[in-house]
Parts: sequence; structure tokens; C-alpha cells
Amino acid sequence: MVKPLSIACLVLSMVFPSASRAGDAPAKIRVLLVIGGHDFEREPFLDVFRSNPEITFETVGHPDAHARLSAEAARSWDVLALYDMWQPISDAAKADFLARLKDGKGIVVLHHAIANYQKWNGYARIIGGKYFLANESFDGRDHPASTYKDDVRFTVEVERNNHPVTRGVENFEIVDENYHGLWVDPSATVLLRTKSPTNHPILAWARTEQASRVVYLQLGHGPSAFGNTSYRKLLAQSIRWTAGRSE
Ligand SMILES: [Zn+2]
Repeated sequence: MVKPLSIACLVLSMVFPSASRAGDAPAKIRVLLVIGGHDFEREPFLDVFRSNPEITFETVGHPDAHARLSAEAARSWDVLALYDMWQPISDAAKADFLARLKDGKGIVVLHHAIANYQKWNGYARIIGGKYFLANESFDGRDHPASTYKDDVRFTVEVERNNHPVTRGVENFEIVDENYHGLWVDPSATVLLRTKSPTNHPILAWARTEQASRVVYLQLGHGPSAFGNTSYRKLLAQSIRWTAGRSE
């Protein structure tokens, strides 16, 4: 027998789909922000996360960060945001990282985190790019060490504005660090480009790995980037997309 209350709930949930949720607002996206191994201006950077109303976040440094990748510890976060630059990683931590990709955790890789784990090629494959800290043979060719140049004013060109990460973002100017001589996975979905001669032509991309969505955003060296409204929007939309909250 169908109780009247069930019918009322059914009708309500058809008229107001959100009424079937426990509350009105969707749960906040829980971000685990990994830092360490590279200096940055802490407060202006953390403000980008504090001012994002869609998320809660927690920072963790090295060497503690890898313990947060275990199946048990990963119950407390939805998206891993990497703003670290760190080299040592155990086989157990690599296995945990790979297992979280099978779980479909979101991965947002920021700026210098493209230089993480130089000796673990799996990391470069997962994130879809690599900054070479030294000359290296990778992906069938010899790469000289990558280079950087700070305080460059350049134009960021949106490659496609129909992607959830770039939606609503127009081409914009920014003062930020340039990286040159990167390897970028040719199968990654290009999101942002630049013609700055001291930068690799691709500034941001998206890909999927196992069940996870992955975004790399090169922007974000210091306060001139952190305060840029387009940077903030790109980062917020990267978190949202990798969390599976946008299609
Ligand atoms: Zn930097």
C-alpha cells in the first residue's frame, strides 16, 4: 500500500527536484590543499580558497601529505589541490595516489606542482605535463631543463569557452610567471593558450585518468595572479568540474 505521505513526497520531488535533498544547498566540496617544498605568499593564496563559497578546505604539508591519500583518510576530501613541489614519494604513496584515481577523486594541479616527483613518470602521465628540473629523456625525446621568468605581463587566450572550467571566462591580461620547455600530453584537452614568447603555448588543460577528472592550471605564482578575477574563476571552476559538480 502506498501511504499518502509517500505520494506527497513523490509529487513534491517531481515539482521541486531539489526538495528530495536533505537541505537546500548542495554539500560543500571538500578540498585537500597540499603545500610544501616551494615558497609562496601564503595569505593572498589561501584567500583564494577562503573566499570560495562552494568549498571547505584544509591544508597539509609534506611529509604528512602522503598519509592523507590512504583510502581511510581520503574519506575526508573530494578534490586534491596540489600547490606543492616535492620529490620523495614511496611506492605505498604512489599506490594510494593511483587508487584514488580509481575512486574518481578530483585532481587540480597548480603552477609549480607540475615539477613534482621528477623521477616518477607516472605522475607526469597522470597530470598530463612535466616541468623538467634538469635535462631529461622523456616520451621518446631529449628535453632540456625547463625555464621560468617571473613578472611577465601577457595575454591569456581561452581556447574553448564551452568547457566547464573556462565557461564565462574571456581572454584576459595577467602579470604572472612564465614557464618554457614543458612537456604537455598531446591528448589533453587544451583550455588556455598564450603567445608569450617566454611561455609554453599551452597554459592549462583538462583530462581524465581512470575515474578522475584532472586539471592543470599553470597560472598562480603570486599575488598579481591570486587577485586576478579570471584566475579565481578558473580555479573555482576547476575544483567544481573535477568534483563532478559540472558536466
Ligand atoms: Zn612560481
